[in-house]
Amino acid sequence: MSQPLPSPAAHAREILARLGVTGLSADGGSLVRSPIDGQVMAHVAFDDARAIEAKVASAARAFRAWRCVPAPRRGELVRLLGEELRAARADLAALVTLEAGKIASEGAGEVQEMIDICDFAVGLSRQLHGLTIASERPGHAMRETWHPLGPVAVISAFNFPVAVWAWNACLALVCGDPVIWKPSEKTPLTALATQALLDRAIARFGEDAPAGLSCVVLGGRDAGERLARDPRVPLVSATGSTRMGKALAPVVAERFGRSILELGGNNAMIVAPSADLSLALRAIVFSAAGTAGQRCTSLRRLIVHESLVDKLGDAVAAAFARLPAGDPRQDGVLLGPLVDKAAYEAFVHALDQARADGAEIIGGERLNLADAPDAFYVRPALAHLPAPTAGMARETFAPLLYVVPYAEFDEAVAMQNDVPQKLSSCVMTNDVREAEAFMGPWGSDCGIANVNIGPSGAEIGGAFGGEKETGGGRESGSDAWKQYMRRQTATVNYSGALPLAQGVRFDL
Ligand code: NAD
Repeated sequence: MSQPLPSPAAHAREILARLGVTGLSADGGSLVRSPIDGQVMAHVAFDDARAIEAKVASAARAFRAWRCVPAPRRGELVRLLGEELRAARADLAALVTLEAGKIASEGAGEVQEMIDICDFAVGLSRQLHGLTIASERPGHAMRETWHPLGPVAVISAFNFPVAVWAWNACLALVCGDPVIWKPSEKTPLTALATQALLDRAIARFGEDAPAGLSCVVLGGRDAGERLARDPRVPLVSATGSTRMGKALAPVVAERFGRSILELGGNNAMIVAPSADLSLALRAIVFSAAGTAGQRCTSLRRLIVHESLVDKLGDAVAAAFARLPAGDPRQDGVLLGPLVDKAAYEAFVHALDQARADGAEIIGGERLNLADAPDAFYVRPALAHLPAPTAGMARETFAPLLYVVPYAEFDEAVAMQNDVPQKLSSCVMTNDVREAEAFMGPWGSDCGIANVNIGPSGAEIGGAFGGEKETGGGRESGSDAWKQYMRRQTATVNYSGALPLAQGVRFDL
C-alpha cells in the first residue's frame, strides 16, 4: 500500500528547505494556500514601493555590466540553470503541484519545459544574428545588429507558475537583459524556489554575473502596475487575463515601453466527418479537462459535424464522468482542483448562464472530497447548445466545454473564428483539403492552428501566442528572441567620397 501523503503545508516546507528558499515570513504578510486542500501553506511578505524601487535600480545597474558579457558566455549561465533544474526537477515539479494544483505529470512537464527552453536559449546565444544589407552607395556597407534591450519585467499567471518565467527569462538572459519577475500572488513559492535555483547557477557562473541580474518582486496588481509604469523597464512581458492586459497595455504604451501580452484564450476544435474519433476523443478529454480546464490553451468549444455530435458528445461525457479526481499528487489522478473559490464561482456562473441560454448540461457538479472541504474540485461539464451563444465568446477558466453542431466546413471555421480571443485552434480531419484550408489565410485566425492534435500542449520551439484579445504577443521559440533586443541599422562609408542616398545633391 502507498504511504499516506503529508499535508500540502508540511510537504511544501520540506521542499522549500531542501531548495534553500529563505525569506518566508513566519506569519502575517500574504497567505499562500494550496488548491489541494485550501489550507495555508506559507506566508510571504509583499514588496513595498521602496523594495521594488531598489530591485529595479539594481536591475538597471546590472544591465550596464551584463550587456557587455559576450552572448555565448551569457548562454553558459542559462546552461548552468538547466543543470540546476535537472537536479531539482522532482522538488520543483512537486511544488508546482502543491501551489497550482496540477497533477504530478503536468508539474513534471512544466519543469521539463523550463529545461527545454534552457537548451534552446543556450543554442540561441550563439545565433543572435543580424543582417548585411546591400547599400545603394559605392564603398558603403549596411548592417543590422541586435543589441541588449534592458531590464525585462515578467508578470506571470498562476496556471503556469514557472514555465512562463523560463520562456522569458532564458531568452532575456542570453539577449543581455536582467529579469525582474512578478509572479502571480497565488504562486509565490514556486517563484522563490526557481530564483533560488538560478542563484545557485549564478554562484557557479562566477563574477561575470552582476548583482541584481535576476530578482523576484512579490505582490499583486499594484506591484505589476509599478513595473509597468517604470521607464527603466523597456519591456514588460505579461501573461494573464485579458482584463489584466487591457489595464496594463496603455500604461506601458504611454511611456513608449514595449509589451509582450499573453492573455486569455477561447480555443476550439472542429471535428469533421472524416476524423479519427478515438484520436479526437483523447485529444478532447486531455485538452478540456487537463489542468482542470485551467490552461490558456484549454479546449472550450467543440464544433462537431452534425452527423457525429450525439455519438461524440456521449463518449466525451462518459470519459469526463470516469476521470479519477482527487489529490493531484496521487498516482492515477487525472483531475485536480480549481485554483480557488473565485474560480469555482466563475464556473458555476458560466454553467447558470449556459442553462439560461438553453444548454443541456452534463456533469459540472462539485466533488466534495472528504478530507478537503475548503478545496474546489469539479466534474468537467459538457454544455450542448444548438448554436453559439454570447456566453461562449467569454473565457471561463474551468473545465466547461461547449458543444455545437455544424453542417458545412466553412460554417465551422466561421464559428471557430467568431470569438475575440485568438490563441489556439485545431481541426480533426483526414481530409487534406479541410486541413490545408484550416491552416490557410481564410482558415483559423488564431496564433496556433493544429491538425489532428488538441489545442493545448505546445512545444517550445514554435512562437507561442495569439491575436486580438489574446494580446498579440509571441514568446518562446522561432524568432521571439528579437523582442528582447533592440535593432540597430548601421551604415559604414569606406570610400573617400560622401554620396547621399536617393541621389540627393548638397554640394558645398
Ligand atoms: P490574472 O490576470 O488575474 O493575473 C496575472 C498576473 O497579472 C498576476 O501576476 C497579477 O498579479 C498581475 N496583474 C493583474 N492585474 C494587473 C495590472 N493591472 N497590472 C499589472 N499586473 C497585473 O490571471 P490569472 O488568473 O493568474 O491567470 C489566468 C489567465 O491567464 C487566463 O485568462 C489565461 O488564459 C491567461 N493565461 C494566458 C497565457 C498565454 O500564454 N496566453 C498563459 C497562461 C495564462
